[in-house]
Amino acid sequence: MNFDLSETQTLIRDTARKFAREVVAPRARQLDREEIFPVDAYRQMGELGLLGVNVPSEYGGAEAGVVSYSLAVIEIAAACASTSVGMCVTNMCAELICQFGTEDQKKRFVTKLVSGEAVAGAFALSEPHAGSDPGAGTTNAVKKGDRWVINGSKQWITSGAYAGVIVVWARTSNEGNKGLSCFLVEKGTPGLTVGRAEDKMGLRGSNTVPLLFENCEVGEENLLGRQGDGFKLAMVALDGGRIGIASQACGVGRAAIEASVKYVKDRHAFGHPIGDFQALRFMLADMTTQQQTAELLTWRAATMKEKKTPFTREASMAKLFASEMSNKVCDKAVQLHGGYGYIDEFPVERYLRDARVQTIYEGTSEIQRIVIAREVIKAG
Ligand SMILES: Cc1cc2nc3c(=O)[nH]c(=O)nc-3n(C[C@H](O)[C@H](O)[C@H](O)COP(=O)(O)OP(=O)(O)OC[C@H]3O[C@@H](n4cnc5c(N)ncnc54)[C@H](O)[C@@H]3O)c2cc1C
Repeated sequence: MNFDLSETQTLIRDTARKFAREVVAPRARQLDREEIFPVDAYRQMGELGLLGVNVPSEYGGAEAGVVSYSLAVIEIAAACASTSVGMCVTNMCAELICQFGTEDQKKRFVTKLVSGEAVAGAFALSEPHAGSDPGAGTTNAVKKGDRWVINGSKQWITSGAYAGVIVVWARTSNEGNKGLSCFLVEKGTPGLTVGRAEDKMGLRGSNTVPLLFENCEVGEENLLGRQGDGFKLAMVALDGGRIGIASQACGVGRAAIEASVKYVKDRHAFGHPIGDFQALRFMLADMTTQQQTAELLTWRAATMKEKKTPFTREASMAKLFASEMSNKVCDKAVQLHGGYGYIDEFPVERYLRDARVQTIYEGTSEIQRIVIAREVIKAG
């Protein structure tokens, strides 16, 4: 077991850290308060290789591996969770196309995604009545000559109003999970309408929208993978995606701890810095232990993915633990700040609001437990 970072991992982490501290962090509060989607930050992340960290260099990626990807997400998320979620989804879409796309699709779509030319990628799986159970989705695609015609609606689509490339799941037959297929749809395709952005509790600098498909036509060359393989593609993408969300949770948790450490040194009560009180020291001890445990789980899953060993269980364990950790840690961070934790003068109230969705998206905590239990029982 080796806990040292490689040269490449260090380089990616330091690049992301510098960008996060100099460009992302100073605007994070404003993005949250004014619900601004930072198009320019995505273009810059593209230039730095942060939108395709685990994507082969022949398609414009950094080809730096999954641990590097996790390290980069942690840095961006510690500065701004909103910015990190679009980064995660873009990396996830690019990787999925690399894994299942034709050469033409990789050249056409992956290069646009990782360079930032597409601004971001979007992953359109959930529907108004089908979230945890994507096999219940009713958006459909019908073949007409050499075109696919998509009809239906998608819900909660991260970066949906800005994404140049959208991976869309649609039903091509009535055979339950086996009836789902996956399509690549470009921004501005006739028949695709973007709905009103959701007014969210947190991640307010991320864009979350419904997408409406009304006779939206794409060429047959836009089918990703084989017809009927859509459910499999979604599960593969989400396995990797969960490493991204676990990393995001680690980043937000770390930021909450850093803010808390600073605060307990500055704030005085009863003639002492509040950091002298054992009750608060014990809180910090637990917060740090939980956050670092989450990082280790996340990097184990990332290492397994990198080595191409099955990692479904490990990714779900990392996502479950890290997302629940960030919620607990951010809640404690607010507590440590007293009344100041509850107002926007300090960042911890934003961290708590941003952390809340992490136990919900890319599979709720309940769905992670179902996956973990299934894998544990299967392994005997
Ligand atoms: C800010 C945000 C961004 C998002 N971004 C995207 C995106 O980019 N692309 C995308 O496709 N989706 C996205 N989502 C959707 C997200 O993945 C879903 O909200 C999530 O999967 C849960 O689905 P649901 O909301 O339909 O809840 P439901 O599936 O209705 O679940 C409701 C409750 O029931 C529980 N539950 C459901 N089934 C079971 C079961 N079998 N056993 C036990 N408990 C169960 C759930 O855990 C939950 O507590 C986003 C959501 C949010 C809030």
